[in-house]
Amino acid sequence: AEEREELSWELFGTASRELAHTIAEDGFAPDLVLSIARGGLFVAGALGYALDVKNLHVMNVEFYTGVDQRLDLPVMLPPVPNVVDLTSKKVLIADDVADTGATLKLVRDFCLDHVAEVRSAVVYEKPHSTVKCEYVWRHTDKWINFPWSVLPPVVQRSGQVLDA
Ligand code: 5GP
Repeated sequence: AEEREELSWELFGTASRELAHTIAEDGFAPDLVLSIARGGLFVAGALGYALDVKNLHVMNVEFYTGVDQRLDLPVMLPPVPNVVDLTSKKVLIADDVADTGATLKLVRDFCLDHVAEVRSAVVYEKPHSTVKCEYVWRHTDKWINFPWSVLPPVVQRSGQVLDA
């Protein structure tokens, strides 16, 4: 089997705490955290607590359909955050991984015209990412198993609930 980078729930706790430390030590105090659903929600929640930021927003972007299976372009799904909520704010974009970087670029570009400042924090960044994030916990070129998506859903598309 090909090699994977494995992030456990426990290691995620350490990673998000260390990422928050790096951001705080850098002197960046965001007004709000903008998460990219769904993986970025975990990162944004953890960073929100660690950085004492209560203002969290969500952006829904669809790009990946499977391991290294992507659509041609990432697409924003509704509801898109109201730009009025972002205007003149210092925004921290939070996501699980910058792989090609296309998802982060889309969200960053969406912010750039409206916000005072935008920076990005990710748990992992891959070497070929077109976006270089300000805050990265680890670099890897492997496929990453995240604790929130490593197991299949407990429901099947048919609606049948699987055994635990
Ligand atoms: P990008 O737009 O940077 O290519 O990919 C961003 C999104 O694709 C991530 O937020 C994540 O949902 C998914 N993705 C990219 N690489 C990986 C990976 O190595 N493992 C997992 N589990 N998801 C990934």
